[in-house]
Amino acid sequence: METKYWFVDNIEQIHQHYPQIKEAADLIRKGEVVAFPTETVYGLGGQAKLDKAVDKIFEAKGRPSDNPLIVHIADQKDVDELAHSVPVYARRLIEKFWPGPLTVIVPKKAGVLSERVTAGLDTVAIRMPDHPAALALIKQAGVPVAAPSANRSGKPSPTTAQHVLDDLSGRIAGVVDAGETGVGLESTVVDCTGDYPIVLRPGGVTEADIEAIAGKAATNTFLQKQEDTPKAPGMKYTHYAPEAPLYIMEGTAESIQRKVNEWQAEGKKVGVLASWENVPFYKAEAVIVCGYRSDLTSVAKGLYGALRAFNEESVDAIIAEAFPAEGVGAAIMNRLEKAAGHKWISTK
Ligand code: AMP
Ligand code: MG
Repeated sequence: METKYWFVDNIEQIHQHYPQIKEAADLIRKGEVVAFPTETVYGLGGQAKLDKAVDKIFEAKGRPSDNPLIVHIADQKDVDELAHSVPVYARRLIEKFWPGPLTVIVPKKAGVLSERVTAGLDTVAIRMPDHPAALALIKQAGVPVAAPSANRSGKPSPTTAQHVLDDLSGRIAGVVDAGETGVGLESTVVDCTGDYPIVLRPGGVTEADIEAIAGKAATNTFLQKQEDTPKAPGMKYTHYAPEAPLYIMEGTAESIQRKVNEWQAEGKKVGVLASWENVPFYKAEAVIVCGYRSDLTSVAKGLYGALRAFNEESVDAIIAEAFPAEGVGAAIMNRLEKAAGHKWISTK
């Protein structure tokens, strides 16, 4: 299949006549799948009511069919078309954080969406993205749009249209290019089916942000570490991984360099995933920077591009600096842990 490419040259005009968006929206309406930017990462969208469109998403990504998708809408009100009920605290979260990088899981209305979107669960994950191109596309398509990240399953999520093409060229109908995404990590996923919100996947909206609005919140750390529960089947899969094995290491740049030296002495080519602050301390086959340690939002933004960049290098192993797991750092460490398959190098 030929993958169309639409470049958004004037984002201010996007809600007016915009032939690129119209063409992409028409394809979605017809049941095709197209990639588009959101404020988190690029998504791969298809009609959430149509089995055949949802099947195409799973097929293009090579995604296991028991990993449910997030449904994207362009208007807060549409949540009631999809949800059977929305608790009061979830309404408050929606009011506060939509459009934005927060996904709510609520009981679903029966018979509205393709069963494949929700992988047979009786709940649905919903989000309204904060990106003019995404909102214009969903509005013009006029349907709820199921959209996981637009990468091959297991790879880091795409933060540029080029990443999307690297993974999915020839497998999808098209990609809307509006430059690099903002947050750089996927949305915070919050289970809103109980008495208070529970964070299943950390993201740009933090547990503290959620607690401030909902009064009480918790994070399901078991889920993030142990990787298996009926509540979120998809969370058990490995994600975000570069081709070479990745290890996380705490401690100073000097101690990380000592480990690099040790592995090099064994004949290995070593990569380091580094912060700008520590770059001068490293001598390795590849040193790739993900952002400033002093500004974790820059690390969130740069992380996936950096992980992907290691695939251009011939390294046998990668050591990633650890970051403080606070605020957006919780999301960064969650993704790094998954990319590393939870492998840590102990600091002696
Ligand atoms: P992605 O689409 O790749 O950003 O991943 C979406 C995440 O949301 C996955 O980890 C899914 O397992 C999770 N998810 C989607 N729908 C549900 C749901 N109904 N219940 C629990 N988790 C969900
Ligand atoms: Mg994904």
